[in-house]
Amino acid sequence: MRYTTRGYRITMEAIFIHKEKDLRISTVETPQVASNQLKVKIERGGICGSDLHYYNKGGFGTNRLKEPMILGHEVSGTVIELGTDVSNFSCGDLVSVSPSRSCNSCQFCLQGLANHCLEMQFYGSAMPFPHIQGAFREQLVVLENQCVLANGLSASQAAMVEPLAVVLHALKQAGPMHGKNILITGAGPIGLLSILAAKSAGALNIVVTDISNQALQLARDLGASETINVADNISALNKFSNNKGFFDIMFECSGSEQALLGAINSIKPRGVIVQLGMSGDMRVPMQFITTKEIILKGSFRFHEEFELGVSLMLNGNIDVLPLLSHSLPFQDAVQAFNLANDRTKSMKVQLVF
Ligand code: ZN
Repeated sequence: MRYTTRGYRITMEAIFIHKEKDLRISTVETPQVASNQLKVKIERGGICGSDLHYYNKGGFGTNRLKEPMILGHEVSGTVIELGTDVSNFSCGDLVSVSPSRSCNSCQFCLQGLANHCLEMQFYGSAMPFPHIQGAFREQLVVLENQCVLANGLSASQAAMVEPLAVVLHALKQAGPMHGKNILITGAGPIGLLSILAAKSAGALNIVVTDISNQALQLARDLGASETINVADNISALNKFSNNKGFFDIMFECSGSEQALLGAINSIKPRGVIVQLGMSGDMRVPMQFITTKEIILKGSFRFHEEFELGVSLMLNGNIDVLPLLSHSLPFQDAVQAFNLANDRTKSMKVQLVF
């Protein structure tokens, strides 16, 4: 670490992915704070499925590492320096930092579709080149409009706003939840947050499938009405397929083709399938989609839902903390990533900065 003569820190440590299974902590410069920016000391950073894809395989789909990249996009921090034009925050505030940095001027931003921004600078993404460097670093200089005040939450809760926002965006795609029968395939953090969000929005029955008994136990603890281990019984959902199906809405959170194929018979005519899971291309049972007039929707990232996520946590509607299984110092990043890979031992793993 280096300091200026006035005591400002000018370098810090960050977690870089170089190629698959090659995670390193290196020193980077701390940028200066412009008038519309603030500097945040990062407190917690959650390891996401996409971080794990970069770690395990160097990327996913067409999204491949071409240069070293700082990982991370689920972070919270404490404000430590304010630009001269920043008016809504004070030093010492806890903030959730949105990684969704849209340009606010392209055709999609102007249509209110900021998650489809042509110039999106989403943290820790190898989609564009040069890659967008991420937020797993000791300090981050951010725009004021990326921050949401999270005083009253813990730093761990505040760092879980990002995956909650992903789920809130998916709920918006699905339409009204009240009185609906919901199927969630995949009980990782996104699937579990879908339980919490659907429940708080009035869902009637929530059935969850996965291949891990540990994950399904947590799903029941969080309010799933029934859980099914589809590794033991691939046709377990058949009992929901009488009279053309039971479920109004399905959240596919696993990215597994088998999950989609196994569930399709249990979806009602004109039911909605929201695809959240991402692990490359999947076969779609198109004949069922056609004859049952099923509505298949993708859901990708979020934008305005980030602020709502903080509010739902602050007013007690959604408690994300049961998902947090481990917190490790960022210096132990390799250990933390290996732990996050092991679904029998962990759910959400966060790094402590
Ligand atoms: Zn834009």
